[in-house]
Amino acid sequence: YCPIAPFGKGNEAKHVLGGKGANLAEMSELGLSVPPGFTITTECCNKFCNDATWDNSLPKPLWDSIIKSLDAVQDDMSSVFGSPENPLLLSVRSGAAISMPGMMDTVLNLGMNDKVVEGLAKKTDNPRFAWDSYRRFLEMFGNVVLEIPRSHFEDELDDMKYEKGVNEDSDLSAEDLQELVTRFKAVYETMDMQFPQDVLEQLSLSIGAVFKGWMGPRAIKYREVENIRNLLGTAVNVQAMVFGNMGDTSGTGVSFSREPNIGTRELFGEFLINAQGEDVVSGVRTPRPISELEDEMPEVYKEFVENNRILEAKFRDMQDIEFTIQEGKLYMLQTRNGKRGGEAAVKIAVDLVSEGLISKNEAIKKVLPEHLDQLLHPRFPDVEQKEYRDAVITRGLPASPGAAVGRIAMSNEKVVENKKNGIPSIMVRDETSPDDVEGMFSAEGILTARGGMTSHAAVVARGWGKPCVCGCTALSVDEEKGEITLTMDDGSQKTFKEGDFISLNGQSGEVLEGSQTVAPPTITGTLKNFMEWVDDVREIDVLANADTPADAKEARKNGANGIGLCRSEHMFFKPERISKVRQLILGSNEQAEEALKDLLKFQREDYEGIFKEMDGLPVTIRLLDPPLHEFLPSLKEENILADCAEQLGFTVDELKEKVEAMEEVNPMLGLRGCRLGITRPSIIKMQTRAILEAALNAIDAGIDAKPDIMVPLVGKVEEFRNQRDVIKSVADTVFAEQGKSCDYKIGTMIEIPRAALTAHEIAEEAEFFSFGSNDLTQMTFGYSRDDVGSFLPDYLNKGILQDDPFVTIDTEGVGQLIKMTVERGRNVRPDLKIGVCGEHGGDPRSVRFFANEAGLSYVSCSPFRVPIARLAAAQASV
Ligand code: ADP
Ligand code: MG
Ligand code: MG
Repeated sequence: YCPIAPFGKGNEAKHVLGGKGANLAEMSELGLSVPPGFTITTECCNKFCNDATWDNSLPKPLWDSIIKSLDAVQDDMSSVFGSPENPLLLSVRSGAAISMPGMMDTVLNLGMNDKVVEGLAKKTDNPRFAWDSYRRFLEMFGNVVLEIPRSHFEDELDDMKYEKGVNEDSDLSAEDLQELVTRFKAVYETMDMQFPQDVLEQLSLSIGAVFKGWMGPRAIKYREVENIRNLLGTAVNVQAMVFGNMGDTSGTGVSFSREPNIGTRELFGEFLINAQGEDVVSGVRTPRPISELEDEMPEVYKEFVENNRILEAKFRDMQDIEFTIQEGKLYMLQTRNGKRGGEAAVKIAVDLVSEGLISKNEAIKKVLPEHLDQLLHPRFPDVEQKEYRDAVITRGLPASPGAAVGRIAMSNEKVVENKKNGIPSIMVRDETSPDDVEGMFSAEGILTARGGMTSHAAVVARGWGKPCVCGCTALSVDEEKGEITLTMDDGSQKTFKEGDFISLNGQSGEVLEGSQTVAPPTITGTLKNFMEWVDDVREIDVLANADTPADAKEARKNGANGIGLCRSEHMFFKPERISKVRQLILGSNEQAEEALKDLLKFQREDYEGIFKEMDGLPVTIRLLDPPLHEFLPSLKEENILADCAEQLGFTVDELKEKVEAMEEVNPMLGLRGCRLGITRPSIIKMQTRAILEAALNAIDAGIDAKPDIMVPLVGKVEEFRNQRDVIKSVADTVFAEQGKSCDYKIGTMIEIPRAALTAHEIAEEAEFFSFGSNDLTQMTFGYSRDDVGSFLPDYLNKGILQDDPFVTIDTEGVGQLIKMTVERGRNVRPDLKIGVCGEHGGDPRSVRFFANEAGLSYVSCSPFRVPIARLAAAQASV
């Protein structure tokens, strides 16, 4: 009915046992010391969440098998759940198939009650430990199961520490903790809640609460932000407790098997002596670096290092490990593949290959496109520079690398509001909690006063590649006043208001005042090495969408194999050119002639520059595409209208009339693309001449120029024929004039569904195809690209769409058109070069489809995304 798996038996998929449960089982099987326990599967959670009748009590068959599994744990531990003489305590831990740090709930020390606490004190001869465990249980059970706000308990704890004049809760005595237990019980009373003394009731309520937590707002938000779908639910791990709070030879910690920011092969983590559970990550006490454990408990440290090695060898990846030490004995409580920043991802992947743990192909799979994305993010250009050094106010822990610049925002709401208004924010908090996830996601960077390198903020930020500085002790946050105060290195103080600019260096942990300049990243060292592997295995080319010589240069630097889309009209928008374009569109015949001459000169120079940058690689130039009135002055801007009218010798009213006459009801379906070329051939004649003259000039200068001329928005083969004839006749003229010629190709965009449907006809004439996947998506769905914002969020929330089709190609609809086009096109012309030049060319999931299912020859994307597309293309082939 509801399967339960004991640790160490069988090897069910993560999907069913959750990540935590599956790996606890693995660790047991490897013979590492793991406290015994069992896993209630995600299927049970799924049933529970979808079955209204289950309500608060667990269904009988499930409960029966829980009791049976519990018996085995009792035998194993030689103790009895609920027995005052010889009590077994349990932890109840959630764990879904995908790790969701801090998102789900854990209850520790379950099985405590008024009698058990006395018995435990006697049995261990350690009353402090017994009362400490009881107060922890009261807090966790109250919070997780009965939803009593944690702050109610925390306030009592703070008061107690204040009364006793101690800083850390580990300094409270047994009597203090006993008193705290009384006060915690009073918290239950004031909330009108019942604390169950019956340990079985504690267990069943806790398991039910973990199930319910899956559907809680925090977990839902996290899945939404992280785009996690199709999970059954969370598994529940019930496990015997081991105790890190038994005194000075006990403790707890978390550690990565390698450094998660830069990837060096050294343990990276923290631990606390005489502490339990979340103490290390919650920031209540300042943890110590893991290296100090070697001095503190050399034997334990040695075993831990060895365990790291064993786990890395087993999982063939860097591990993120949670452990507890009970009276000098090490216990392993969790392991998973560790989240890491981009730099570490590449270094670890490359190192694992040289250590012989994985193959190159596996290394390629391990680096996520998001990791590269992070590496390609801006950094501070020169941190030794005086201006930079002078702006440094203070330092925190370098929790997640990268440079972030933004306005101080002190709440979730503020960050989200800023984001809506296009204002970059740095989220500044005392410490972050899972409730801050949305704000953290929308911020450029995160700064916290408290919390260590493994705190919630640090882990989440690293996962997203957001710069984060945490544990900044010089920072004090006054949310009420909307102010933060930073104590400078020299002891003086600086106060900033919400809305002021600050900058963060997540690599060094430095906090800087003002908005510092950032520089683009470069591909060197290990990354360069890794990208060579990537290029060796990928089977399709990655081209770039580049409109200017500068773009082309950037594209080449990023490893582009050519230009897949040069939107030549983008060069028209420069001030000295736009007036020529207006003259061309609106002026008399003579004025238009003259404008064409000037534009020819401009465009020829541009193309020549691009050919130079792309020496030896194809350059695909699209002829004029947008509706002409995009170049005309706005009717609202009187100054510009006046200037323009004067230039052309019109009155302002005459000009307005002309502009109005060109307005279209639905311009994206109006006079644009090849329709312009057909009705007003002079422009594309000029463009063709510019392209070919530039190519000939470049060739004269020793450059290998490879122009491909691309006709946009073709729907009927006759349109293409018309344009091709125009292009050819210009080419013949140019070649005759110059007495020399060059190779060039004429192809078309496939972006109108009719073109896809008649691809076999068009392929007879066109030498290459390039999918304009933005327009093709727009016209296949009938969604206006520019207006989709008004309904897309609802469509995504309601599950009508799984993804934004303008980001990730719709494989079922638009993708079918693409596949059909490829098939029909290649039937006619087997060597037809086919690529895609829409936004989708830089989206990893779309790239996989284009490479593996559609069989395209190349993708083309913005220069900045080229390395990501290279990786995605390689991942599609391994
Ligand atoms: P999360 O998913 O938030 O990491 P866990 O289930 O891993 O939650 O529990 C958090 C912490 O609780 C662990 O890191 C560990 O310190 C403590 N813990 C969990 N189970 C046990 C146990 N059986 N014995 C001792 N401590 C435990
Ligand atoms: Mg954990
Ligand atoms: Mg288009």
